[in-house]
Amino acid sequence: MYGMKTIPKTALNEWVQRLRRRFRVVGPKPKHGKFVFGEVETAAQMALDYPTTCVPPKKYLFPQQETLLNYHLDGSHIQAVIETEPTVIFGIHTCDVQATRLFDQIFSQGFTDQHYRARREDIYLISIECLSPCSEHAYCHDMGTSHLPEAADLHLTDLGDAYGVHVNTAKGESLIADAFVEEYSPAWQQIYETAIVDKQEVFRKRLNFAVEELNDLLREQYNSELWQEIGDKCLVCGMCTQVCPTCVCFNVVDEANLMQTEGQRTRHWDSCQATTFALVAGGHNFREARMSRQRHRFMRKGKYMHDAYGLLGCVGCGRCGETCLVNITPIEVLNALYQEQAVEQFVPESELELIHENVIAGSAGVAVDLHAGASQDNGRTHSH
Ligand code: SF4
Ligand code: SF4
Repeated sequence: MYGMKTIPKTALNEWVQRLRRRFRVVGPKPKHGKFVFGEVETAAQMALDYPTTCVPPKKYLFPQQETLLNYHLDGSHIQAVIETEPTVIFGIHTCDVQATRLFDQIFSQGFTDQHYRARREDIYLISIECLSPCSEHAYCHDMGTSHLPEAADLHLTDLGDAYGVHVNTAKGESLIADAFVEEYSPAWQQIYETAIVDKQEVFRKRLNFAVEELNDLLREQYNSELWQEIGDKCLVCGMCTQVCPTCVCFNVVDEANLMQTEGQRTRHWDSCQATTFALVAGGHNFREARMSRQRHRFMRKGKYMHDAYGLLGCVGCGRCGETCLVNITPIEVLNALYQEQAVEQFVPESELELIHENVIAGSAGVAVDLHAGASQDNGRTHSH
């Protein structure tokens, strides 16, 4: 722990100017009524109180498309292409920082992805505390990502006239060296603690179960009929995966010139929701049905990544729910699975169908009489 500082808001722009001498600075900017991460020249161009961005800042670590290597087809030349630029991601939300932690694991375990590693070393993260939920679909509070003051290199908290700054790493210290900082007095600490306590009042629990139960829940509900009903509803647009900060699937393509002398290998984001994603040689598609692709998406987020890396593959940002045209949202799907699990031994088939219908209708809540064998308290449901 490197300690706490404060930066007066009036000093923010000068800080950004100084950072720009050494780095590309990107931050949240308004665009067509939404927010996107883009390069900024002044602090005023950033909206640090933004709700969320359409596309997460993972694009700076894992671009939508990149060239991996150039080569001659006769094998005389193979050259890796590593494109990187020292970059400060300013104002990243803590859920997206948690997604970066997951990427660090994925791109390093077993085989180290040199393209990712090179960019990662050049990325400096300045996160900002969310003091209110960013969207109706966010459930970061349940996923444990709404308050991670020590995850990024620097972490800002809006304290009124100034930002409180957690300095967490040597990288963070090098960034703060460019800022006009003031000492972190007990008075600022009092304001900070009040802000964090107040925040707990506005971040409601959205899941009806503890996140520690998610892995087991998905395993036990693998054969749920809900997957079929969600699959029937899905339009296969793939937007849920394109906007997700933790989706990491990519395709690799070789493109040769017309003379068949030189080529380049590129990779680009792919989507497990695409019909051809699991199409393999011989024409077999091992996830041809939409239900199996939807099930895979949820399994991967809540179970497979957790099994492999010890971290959940969902950070609760809510972007997929926000963007889905047919209102397939993780909160409703997971709560329905939980409720289904809790009641399936006690209620008739017709009421299970009601749970599914509510999810299919995109209702905000799923109300089912649990009968004997289950009770509810403080919004949480427990089976006996
Ligand atoms: S699955 Fe949805 S809520 Fe979870 S991290 Fe991805 S976009 Fe965010
Ligand atoms: S955004 Fe919705 S409709 Fe589109 S692929 Fe994802 S779940 Fe299906």
